[in-house]
Amino acid sequence: MKYIEEFHDPALARKLLDDIRATVTRPWALMEVCGGQTHSIIRHGIDQLLPDGLELIHGPGCPVCVTPLEMIDKALEIASRPGVIFCSFGDMLRVPGTGRDLFRVRGQGGDVRVVYSPLDALDLAHRNPDREVVFFGIGFETTAPANAMAVREARRRGLANFSMLVSHVRVPPAIEAIMESPKCRVQGFLAAGHVCSVMGTGEYPELAARYRVPVVVTGFEPLDILEGVRRAVRQLERGEHQVENAYPRAVRDDGNPAALRVIEEVFEVTDRSWRGIGTIPGSGWRLAPGYRDLDAEHRFAVTGLHTREPARCRSGEVLQGLLKPHECEAFGTDCTPRSPLGATMVSSEGACAAYYLYRRLGGPVRAAREEATRRG
Ligand code: SF4
Repeated sequence: MKYIEEFHDPALARKLLDDIRATVTRPWALMEVCGGQTHSIIRHGIDQLLPDGLELIHGPGCPVCVTPLEMIDKALEIASRPGVIFCSFGDMLRVPGTGRDLFRVRGQGGDVRVVYSPLDALDLAHRNPDREVVFFGIGFETTAPANAMAVREARRRGLANFSMLVSHVRVPPAIEAIMESPKCRVQGFLAAGHVCSVMGTGEYPELAARYRVPVVVTGFEPLDILEGVRRAVRQLERGEHQVENAYPRAVRDDGNPAALRVIEEVFEVTDRSWRGIGTIPGSGWRLAPGYRDLDAEHRFAVTGLHTREPARCRSGEVLQGLLKPHECEAFGTDCTPRSPLGATMVSSEGACAAYYLYRRLGGPVRAAREEATRRG
């Protein structure tokens, strides 16, 4: 497929790996922020092909994983109410709340539906004027424009029975929180290309300068990731800390101005709690005052929640890059994608799910590693 296969070329991958090996003279730790990048890294065994001592730390960039338990419990409570059609992307249905998930709510009679776009939820609201239709609007900056447009469209179409349960998060404050942690080992970042395709690169130079870390905007295919790593270690070896755009086919420095305009109109910045991490100031968006009447949290007063994280789940440490998924005792035994204890085992972008899918048996990764070793 055009624009995919070119970025899987083994000869170019070997060349980039050779360049990385020739550049690196000492141990470095880079964090890939995005869960999509984590899956690509683990799926292709990229971390195992890098020189010894060059570590990729998996960051908190899975939107489903970082949605706070309290918000999941609110979703469960709203979805259980008579007269509500609760709409969500499929990943969220298996994410455990306190004692149950959206699948369980559906099994107990709740009208929970999987949609593929927030606009599907608008259509449901149009076709069911006597029902309350709630869309679970989660995600990073990437999904914010579509969700913002849905809210604006609901207002334009006068769909008074539509509302959105918003749990949007923003990457730059998370980077700040990671760097401020006393346990932080991160020396450079691979920034998420799709986030920057919306937001541009303007939020990163100040962070790069303040924490003296290179930030390389990186795509998702194997060659994209190797090129991001190559640029980041080249900067580290030179003692530099710049923002570089290694994903120019999708990212412009000024982002997507039309998307930024709709985000600015519909959302306002707020403090947001991240699951397993805690509250990060200014790290989220909620609906702006002009759209507050479409905010499901505002419309459905949900009180009396008693959230309880599974005691054995260490996803907070996984999301902060302090623990690799297979180091969790429950990994692959009590916790599997069919029976997850934490969101990081559920989501298609979760680090635990990536390790379960691609590393549990070791086959393809080990084979790639052995082949690379044979080639020297
Ligand atoms: S393997 Fe399961 S229990 Fe362990 S951190 Fe990941 S999601 Fe939580």
